[in-house]
This record gives sequence, structure tokens and C-alpha cells, in this order.
Amino acid sequence: MKIPVVEGTCSGCCRCIMSCPTGAAGPINPKKVIVEKCAGCGKCVQVCPNNCRVMR
Ligand code: SF4
Ligand code: SF4
Repeated sequence: MKIPVVEGTCSGCCRCIMSCPTGAAGPINPKKVIVEKCAGCGKCVQVCPNNCRVMR
């Protein structure tokens, strides 16, 4: 399963954290993902205004 990684410039808007249904994005640092909680849904990637999140 692919999970999101931050590869570009993150502005810290926290939209990824707010969009994540499982609490896996962040929750303190938007560049971090709690792998065990991630469902691989890609919602955090879709909402990122900087397109800096990529599923890998
Ligand atoms: S892929 Fe889905 S479950 Fe995983 S961090 Fe992003 S929004 Fe959360
Ligand atoms: S949505 Fe994108 S720019 Fe905003 S905090 Fe998350 S990774 Fe950073």
C-alpha cells in the first residue's frame, strides 16, 4: 500500500491533517504520517494546495 510523503514545500496550512479520516496525517507535524494508522486513501494529497504530498 502506498502512503503519502511530503516532497515539496509545505506551507504548514494543516489541510492534510484536517482532511485525514484516521488521524494518520500529522497530527502535530504535517510532514509526518503515522504509518500504522494510514488507510492510503489519498485525501490528504487531494487537499494539499501546494501539491507537495505524493503517494509512494
Ligand atoms: S492517505 Fe488517507 S489515511 Fe493516509 S494520511 Fe492521507 S488522508 Fe490520512
Ligand atoms: S496540506 Fe500540504 S501544504 Fe498544507 S500542511 Fe499539508 S502538506 Fe503542508
